[in-house]
Amino acid sequence: MRLSFDNAVLRELPGDPEAGPRLRHVQGAAWSRVMPTPVAAPRLVAHSAEVAAQLGVAVGDVASPAFAEVFGGSALLEGMDPWAANYGGHQFGHWAGQLGDGRAISLGEAVAADGTRHELQLKGAGPTPYSRSADGRAVLRSSIREFICSEAMHHLGVPTTRALSLVATGEAVVRDMFYDGHPRPEPGAIVCRVAPSFIRFGTFELPASRGDLDLLRALAEFCVWRDFPWLLGEQAGAGATGSGAGRSLSELRATKAFDETLFARWFHEICVRTAALVGHWMRVGFVHGVLNTDNMSILGLTIDYGPYGWIDDYDPEWTPNTTDAQGRRYRYGWQPRVAHWNLGRLAGALSPLFGDAAPLQAGLDAYAATWAECERDNACAKLGLEDCLDGDLVLMRELQALMQRAGADMTRFFRALSDVDVDAEAPGLEPLRDAFYAPARLAEHADALGDWLARYAARCRAGGLPREARVARMHAANPRYVPRNYLAQQAIDRAEAGDEAGIAELLDVLRDPYGEQPGREAYAALRPDWALDRAGCSMLSCSS
Ligand code: AMP
Ligand code: MG
Repeated sequence: MRLSFDNAVLRELPGDPEAGPRLRHVQGAAWSRVMPTPVAAPRLVAHSAEVAAQLGVAVGDVASPAFAEVFGGSALLEGMDPWAANYGGHQFGHWAGQLGDGRAISLGEAVAADGTRHELQLKGAGPTPYSRSADGRAVLRSSIREFICSEAMHHLGVPTTRALSLVATGEAVVRDMFYDGHPRPEPGAIVCRVAPSFIRFGTFELPASRGDLDLLRALAEFCVWRDFPWLLGEQAGAGATGSGAGRSLSELRATKAFDETLFARWFHEICVRTAALVGHWMRVGFVHGVLNTDNMSILGLTIDYGPYGWIDDYDPEWTPNTTDAQGRRYRYGWQPRVAHWNLGRLAGALSPLFGDAAPLQAGLDAYAATWAECERDNACAKLGLEDCLDGDLVLMRELQALMQRAGADMTRFFRALSDVDVDAEAPGLEPLRDAFYAPARLAEHADALGDWLARYAARCRAGGLPREARVARMHAANPRYVPRNYLAQQAIDRAEAGDEAGIAELLDVLRDPYGEQPGREAYAALRPDWALDRAGCSMLSCSS
């Protein structure tokens, strides 16, 4: 197995002079060299064929013992040069200081044959200088969740980090799942995450908090150059490959390319991408669960899959994260405003690069405008309308309120809505019946739903989109299959009992989330009652 590496992070950004995992505060440096800790018996449990193909890893190589060794942290390929990144963050609204990659170790930046750049990062690869009081490891259950959900998100069309592989370590990891004094050993695992960049909002917050403006500026210039080359008029990925096709960072510095106007465009782009990301989350019913600023990708990718969850019964107040149960800061319905708040923290961190606050404020305003647009687009697409009038947003909000009161399953309801006969003056509820959790609650709100459907049907008729086009539009916006918490938990239960086939089976269904997939209806079923109070299904903690 051969991959080409160009480790631009190490080459272009200041690093920690000390290598190895000794715990420390790392000043003036963006990364620390540290090796993954070899594991007892690395074994490939699952992989993404799409990510492997993108990287140019042959099918035969994936199956080789060497693959499990490398992506289990026990061996390196030529050109790999592992490091952990240094960053800080606001956690649950409070500045937390230095955090860094406590259990993630980047192996290198692979450059594929098409010139695209892919940082390969092991999660759970052992201690780093940033592990603080923890062990640097990850358990199988949380690794299965990260592996499945990141690939599912990609197939749903939601920007995300990817997952190349899931490797069992053959070692036990002790976790107290609910922090209630009941630690137990669990099987350990390592996911290899893949993204063009793992830079986070907190990457900039840390040097800004320390008044280290040299590092702040170096990071900003590097990030624009490597991750946003089109802002410099470079081909996407050109500067990034280091192939000579694009200008080098030092050449660009010499031409004084990194001025305030450029940084303003950069921040604007980050804001717009973040809004688009949140728009997708709201469309598909994803709740991140820990939207701390260290978990916000500068590229607007979904990153750090921990106690995330999927909306079953529509409830904007729901958070999957037990650690967040009190304040419910990271509940579904609050994600748009939390992302805005997080961008505000990033703006504060970047402010030393600007003479005044106007460009930063403009970026934040662009976030609000883009999110508002996404909300309209979502309403329009989910309801199958050609374009969104102001009244349509009202129609959507009324529907959401009704769905919440009547206990509608978000995914099933929107999917079934395209079966409603909008040519009827008073369309029946029949196509929607199987999208509700309790017949009594549906009955209680049936009149109001009927009234809403009549208005919806009238709106569809006035809009004039032919039936086929309307249904196609709805099916493209309303997935039939999402990685519901209980589905992931079933795959976990089977894997912990020795049957790992459920992971690939579930992933295979999630490869085509908008398709009907006859014969796989069970994966689109309502959440079963047993999942209501089952750990891993409705209650998740940060312990992973
Ligand atoms: P998270 O909430 O998972 O984004 O983690 C917040 C911080 O804690 C990050 O700096 C992580 O690297 C670190 N962290 C989480 N779990 C562990 C672990 N088991 N070992 C070391 N560091 C960890
Ligand atoms: Mg994190």
